[in-house]
Amino acid sequence: MLMKSDTDMTQADSAAADEGVPVSVRIRERLKAARQRFHSNDNIADFIEPGELEQLLDEVTEKMQGVLDSMVIDTANDHNTDNTARRVAKMYLKEVFAGRYVQGPAVTEFPNAEHLNELMIVGPITVRSACSHHFCPVIGKLWIGIMPNEHTNVIGLSKYARLAEWIMGRPQIQEEAVIQLADLIQEKTQPDGLAIVMEASHYCMAWRGVKDMDSKMINSVMRGVFLKDSTLRREFLSLLPRQS
Ligand SMILES: [Zn+2]
Repeated sequence: MLMKSDTDMTQADSAAADEGVPVSVRIRERLKAARQRFHSNDNIADFIEPGELEQLLDEVTEKMQGVLDSMVIDTANDHNTDNTARRVAKMYLKEVFAGRYVQGPAVTEFPNAEHLNELMIVGPITVRSACSHHFCPVIGKLWIGIMPNEHTNVIGLSKYARLAEWIMGRPQIQEEAVIQLADLIQEKTQPDGLAIVMEASHYCMAWRGVKDMDSKMINSVMRGVFLKDSTLRREFLSLLPRQS
């Protein structure tokens, strides 16, 4: 038997070896080689090569078609579900879970030239996500409180919404989502204090499960001066225009 070692492989050989290997497996191998976590709420854009997202779309379409087949839905004759596999694949990869597959939004940070040092609140920012447990929508809003110092970078108000959209655009767990967002904003702006409050409806509770239409989950992250200074924390919470 003739076998070539890895080092003998030419580019053509390795391209040929790749053929028939699902693109998801190739991406997964890169992640594993880099010892990079790839949970549902992790971004893996650095490990996807140009053109591979389109191949992933084809692969997910095919697998989604398998799900419809296994659910005994006659997609060949039912024109309503005719293209559903493709639509769902596209919705997952390019729309609702795009935050896993694309690079984060470009955010320009400016030095705090005005030496702003007053509590700043951004929100409500609309949250559109899905739970990792059921892939059911999680819809709500969040507020961000920033306590800047002279070294804090300033970013445009709309950028907070872009960063939130990127983090929420993944199958998420609300408690982890707010921490991921806090870490990202912390890294970009370096404030003295950071507070995030998120209030969301979990449709896995409304559509299935206890079928409770009104329950909302509220959670928060407090960092820096918001942790140490209860007056500041109260001030932030009192300024949130929450109706309920
Ligand atoms: Zn759920």
